Amino acid sequence: MKASEATTYYFQRAAKNLGIGTRLERVLLAPRREVKVECIIERDSGELASYSAFRVQHDNSRGPMKGGLRYHPDVDRDEVNSLASLMTWKTAVANIPYGGAKGGINCDPRQLSYAELQRITRAFIDQTHDIIGPTLDIPAPDMGTNAQTMAWIVDQYSKYHGWTPSVVTGKPLELGGSEGREAATGRGLAYATEALLADDGKQVSELTFAVQGFGNVGAWLSRFLYAGGAKIIAVSDATGAIENPNGIDVEALSRYADETGGISGFPHATAMRANDLLTTKCDVLIPAALGNVLTEENAVHIQAKYIIEGANGPTDPLADEIFIKRGIKVLPDIFANSGGVIVSYFEWVQNVQQFRWREDRVNAELKALMLESYTEIKKIVKAGSLDFRTAAFQLAISRVARATALRGLEHESFCMLVQH
Ligand code: NAD
Repeated sequence: MKASEATTYYFQRAAKNLGIGTRLERVLLAPRREVKVECIIERDSGELASYSAFRVQHDNSRGPMKGGLRYHPDVDRDEVNSLASLMTWKTAVANIPYGGAKGGINCDPRQLSYAELQRITRAFIDQTHDIIGPTLDIPAPDMGTNAQTMAWIVDQYSKYHGWTPSVVTGKPLELGGSEGREAATGRGLAYATEALLADDGKQVSELTFAVQGFGNVGAWLSRFLYAGGAKIIAVSDATGAIENPNGIDVEALSRYADETGGISGFPHATAMRANDLLTTKCDVLIPAALGNVLTEENAVHIQAKYIIEGANGPTDPLADEIFIKRGIKVLPDIFANSGGVIVSYFEWVQNVQQFRWREDRVNAELKALMLESYTEIKKIVKAGSLDFRTAAFQLAISRVARATALRGLEHESFCMLVQH
């Protein structure tokens, strides 16, 4: 199933329970704007190269649109569309005043030099600076991009519009970034995991975890879980997968990965087949790398009792239905990994106010918002005997629909939602 079909499936499953009707569904599903541009640059060799780039702005009924910018060879229009829609629902679940957007450039950042990446980024902003901005659409890092990419965007955008650090989030601290932003997605995932387990009378220190992906999200989350006493028994990244049934020393693994560029060959664990990580025996499985890794084929073999979605879109709908039937609890991406966009919001607030928050304030506000969302979702789970994903989508759809109605799109099903 294509990424956008999966998002639509989850949306429609929840929308049906809300009874909002197909007309309103169509309005909420359609992206407001899709842009495709070519970033043409001179490579270091002197050759010309062209990279297709996308920005999809899905919905702005609750505020300016917000979403990452991904550099990856699999980036295409469909994936960016699906991720933009997920951002609309994610910002609504978190109840922060944003809509959803996403961008991507089809390139392999590992095959490009620092100078080439900088030229591609600047070429992209040359072509999109008039459709992004602090009150329009605010990009952030995603796979293959980082604080340095955001710094280039601030610089290029500011050439057209004057000094505007609030055009992106996830910036270096020196250019108006926020304390706590780099670790925020992992930290938020840890708060979400603890809340879910606590409801079942469990603690992270009693359980075993397998983590797919050891980049920003996977590594930070593993470090927080490890600090909380969790036993991380398997980890994978693009270089390979490793396991140790007695638990992996995550701090030592982080240092090793920083020095060598990956986890493969880590001396205090044994190598395993990358695909086996997902089906390995563990209590909690955390996909924190790619989309669409949990499928109809492997869902029946998953041994974990909990799945926490660190990555965006890791679960195919057919797998999701199997997890529901098997009683495996899944904390969905639109809630679980929202820590990044929440602290991005705090960064933007600080930029707009020209005021800095200390890290303890950032982390405390992040925890408060994550737990607030969890409580709201849990209420819907209980009231409807639902899975967490359907409940999170219901919460998000009702918030976006109400904002759309209040802004004046007249239709009786909108009005019905406003009155609730
Ligand atoms: P990243 O580029 O920092 O890390 C990606 C990790 O995945 C790397 O360790 C890479 O080696 C690994 N990987 C790549 N291919 C793999 C494979 N085949 N098997 C196992 N591992 C593989 O990216 P990130 O920021 O950590 O993002 C990871 C996921 O989390 C993405 O789906 C992203 O959209 C999502 N996400 C990120 C943030 C954020 O703040 N960074 C926020 C929300 C969601």
